[in-house]
Formats: sequence, structure tokens, C-alpha cells
Amino acid sequence: MTDFGIKETLDILGVKDVNDGTSTGQHNFSNGEVIESYSPVDGKLIGKVKTTTKEDYDKVMKTASAAFVSWRSKPAPLRGEIVRQFGEKLREKKEALGKLVSYEMGKSYQEGLGEVQEMIDICDFAVGLSRQLHGLTMHSERPGHRMYEQYHPLGIVGIISAFNFPVAVWAWNTALAWVCGDVCVWKPSEKTPLCGIACQNIAAEVFAKNDLPEGISCLINGNYKVGEFMTKDTQIPLVSATGSTRMGKIVAKEVAGRLGKTLLELGGNNAIIVTPDADIKMTVIGAVFGAVGTAGQRCTSTRRLIIHESVYDKVKEAIVKAYKQLRIGNPLDENNHVGPLIDKDAVNMYVNALERVVEEGGKIVVHGGVLYGDGYESGCYVKPAIAEAKNSFEIVQHETFAPVLYLLKYAGDVNNALKIQNGVAQGLSSAIMTNNLREAEAFLSVAGSDCGIANVNIGTSGAEIGGAFGGEKETGGGRESGSDAWKVYMRRQTNTINYTADLPLAQGIKFDL
Ligand code: NAD
Repeated sequence: MTDFGIKETLDILGVKDVNDGTSTGQHNFSNGEVIESYSPVDGKLIGKVKTTTKEDYDKVMKTASAAFVSWRSKPAPLRGEIVRQFGEKLREKKEALGKLVSYEMGKSYQEGLGEVQEMIDICDFAVGLSRQLHGLTMHSERPGHRMYEQYHPLGIVGIISAFNFPVAVWAWNTALAWVCGDVCVWKPSEKTPLCGIACQNIAAEVFAKNDLPEGISCLINGNYKVGEFMTKDTQIPLVSATGSTRMGKIVAKEVAGRLGKTLLELGGNNAIIVTPDADIKMTVIGAVFGAVGTAGQRCTSTRRLIIHESVYDKVKEAIVKAYKQLRIGNPLDENNHVGPLIDKDAVNMYVNALERVVEEGGKIVVHGGVLYGDGYESGCYVKPAIAEAKNSFEIVQHETFAPVLYLLKYAGDVNNALKIQNGVAQGLSSAIMTNNLREAEAFLSVAGSDCGIANVNIGTSGAEIGGAFGGEKETGGGRESGSDAWKVYMRRQTNTINYTADLPLAQGIKFDL
């Protein structure tokens, strides 16, 4: 196999064979154990990262605290200018970073580039935002008084991210947090640590060029124990955590226990409702991309297709036919549609899910299986599978982070489909395929989808940065990215100013001396 220019890519990004996983910008240091990053693409070792000890972490926090005092005093548009430069650097390094994302995580090169584009897009969004960050003004009930609210930065934002979006999730958080005046400490997934090193190198270059203090962008590395340094730390007012619901429940409890704030972006169990009025061609494209894109390892991946009985056989047949055309292999080769899963644990979970669905009474209609042999040496490549199932199956209620799609049948009107769709613990993304206005509006109504994202005639997968991104129920309730998601990175203050020589009290209370 060719190396697809990986060595050159690592050089461009300043990723070495052995990297210090702790960084405050100009200083990189680490005294923890070494973790190794193997590519799921070919099973080869890409590089090593020294993890962060508690002593290393304490040093980071000291530098970050000092940086915050300086950074918060810069005018927000000036902070926006730094984010603009960061976005420009990302444009320069887009191909290299996209390739590393693809090679370390296993998503297709096109999706790797798309992920870096999301980083660029959020930078552009944040630059505009840096000239807004507006509060409201209110009319005071007291004469000669003025009332308004303003937003101040929170302080040090802790970011914990998942393996499947190894760079974009950090940028979604950090670009907004930076223009808001916060400084950030990031712990990337221990499964994709080199993406973290590459991002921090890019950010550090921009801050140094502008003579800004170290500590505005900090990196720490390691497993959940390093994440716990942040969740337990009262110096961190906001922990933004992206990952499994299991992790979110632990992080939420820990941070709430010290009355800190969390922004949680957790697991999904996303469905597309296919009604009798659906455009079948569009449905097939949306469903197949949603189910097999990123090998089913998106939080917004389509896991359930809820199909009306009148079109069930037709839709099933079209999707089964489309699956036969899927090419599975090296994601850096643009001819392939489906790359590997992240590691062998993920492969085991996939195998287990297919066994469980049969045990519970389901029927496999597109057989899965692990691929071996030429091109599949990493042991992480699997065939996308489809099973007919019931929503009540325990395995269907569960998010399996792999390309397994469940077909569920409904009868009657769209409300029956909505009951099935909403009948899971997660609430991230949802979609309906229909050309019927009444069905579409029912889906979007108050009695409709209970998810954070509800789409009409597009799939569940992917989102634009302009909208607030996140989900309800066990997805955690957090909102990131566009709209007014920035408010979570700031503290709100209400101000009342008296410009008279009297001191009237609110609610007409008299207090004469
Ligand atoms: P994971 O939960 O195993 O790990 C995520 C991160 O949390 C890692 O950095 C990990 O080290 C850290 N972590 C784990 N336990 C912790 C603890 N107790 N304290 C502090 N940190 C802890 O998730 P993963 O396998 O990397 O990612 C896949 C999951 O992420 C899926 O469930 C997916 O749906 C979800 N996800 C959600 C979104 C979203 O926006 N809703 C986006 C991407 C991924």
C-alpha cells in the first residue's frame, strides 16, 4: 500500500514520532505515561504522545489563569481578529489536517477535509460574533434609572472531546470561547491524540505571532483520569464534554456536585421517518449516507428507518440494492465509500449488536461481517449491515457506534411513526421524508419530533455551523456552534444605573432615614 503522503503530512503539522501531550503554547512538557496512536486504516503506528500528570496539569492551569486576565481585557473584535488569523492558518493547512484526521480516525479524506472546513466556518462565524455579543436594555420602573445586561467571559473553559470528530468539536468550542474572552484547556480523545497535537501547533503559532501570552490555548492528554482533573477542578467554571451518554452522566454529576456548568453533547439514536409520500430516491441517498458515512460513527448517523407499511418493501429493496454497491476500504482512496471502525473494541461491539438483534427476534437483510486480508490488515473494517427489527428491542434502544441500520415498520398516520421515533432515550437528530405538508408540519409541531435537530427531506447526518447543534434527553441538552450558543461561554450580568440625586427603591418601598 502507498503511504498516501502521511510522513509529509505529519511534517507539515509539526507532529513528531514522540510528542509532549501537554502544552500551554510556546512550552510543551509532559511527565505522564506514553500513549501510542495506531491508524485504523492500516494498523500502523503513527506516533506517540506523552500524557499529562496532575503536576503538569497544575502548571497548565496556572498559565491559563494568568492568560485569562490579559485575554479578557482585549476588545472582543481584537480577539475576533486572532480567530480570523487562526481560520486563515486552517485554510493553509486544510489538506494536511484533513489527511491526518482521515488517517488517525479512519473517516474518508473528503470527510476529513469537510471536518476542517467546519473549523474554518466556525472561525468565520466567530469573527462576526466578536462584534456582537450583545445583551438587552430594559426600561427601569424607577425614574432617572437605566437598566441593561451585559455578558462577561467565564474564565477557563475545559473541553473534553470524542474520537469521531477529533478536530471540529474543539474548534466549535474554542473559536466561540476565545471571542467571548475565555481561555481553553482541551483534552482530546485518547484514541486521536495526534490530531490534538496538530491543532495546538496551529493555534500556538497564531498566538505567538501576535505576541499574546501563553495559556489562551492549552492542551492536555490522557484518558478519563486526565479528564477528571478538569471535572473536579473549581477553577473551571464550564466543562464542555462530547462523547458517550455513559461518560456524560459521570461528568454531569461531578461538575454539578461543585455547581459548575456543563455543555453536554452525547450519544444519539437517530431515525428517518419514511412516509407513503416520500421521494424514494432521495430517501435512499439520505438513509445510506446517514447509515454508512463515517462507517456509522457519527453522533448523527442514521440508526433507524421507520417506514410506512405501504412503501416498506419498495424502500427495503432500494436500500438493499444500494448497499450492494458500497465499496469498503482505505478511506484515503476516494473510490471507497466506507472506511474502518476506530479500533477492535468497536468491531466487537458491532459484532455483538448483530448477534443481539437476531437473538431478540430480528432478521438480517444485509449481512455484515468483519473483513480480513489484503487492504484490511488493521482488522477494523466491517461490512455495513441492515436488520429488520422492533423498536422495543434492547439493542435498538441502544446506540451502537457502527454501520448497523434497523428497519422498523409503522402503520396508520405519521403520529404512529413519531411514537416510535421518540420512543428511545436519546434525542439528537431526526428526519422525515415526505412531500405531504401536513405530515411535515406534524413532525415539526410541538407534538412532533422531540430531538434537538429535526429535518424535512434531508437525512439525520451532519449539520451546518450556523444553527445551534445538540440534542435533548440522554443526548445531554447542550447547544454548540451557531445561533446564540455563545451565551453558554459567558456570564450574564444585569446592571442598573441611577443618574439622579435620589435613591428610590424598587417596588415602591419606602426607607426614610
Ligand atoms: P467516550 O465517551 O468514550 O469518550 C469521550 C471523551 O470523554 C474522551 O476524551 C474520554 O477520555 C473522555 N472521558 C470518558 N470518561 C470520562 C470521565 N469519567 N471524566 C472525564 N472525561 C471522560 O466517547 P467516544 O467513544 O470517544 O465517542 C463516541 C461517542 O460520542 C458516541 O456516543 C457519540 O454519539 C458521541 N458524540 C456525540 C456528539 C454530539 O455532538 N452529540 C459528537 C460526537 C460524538
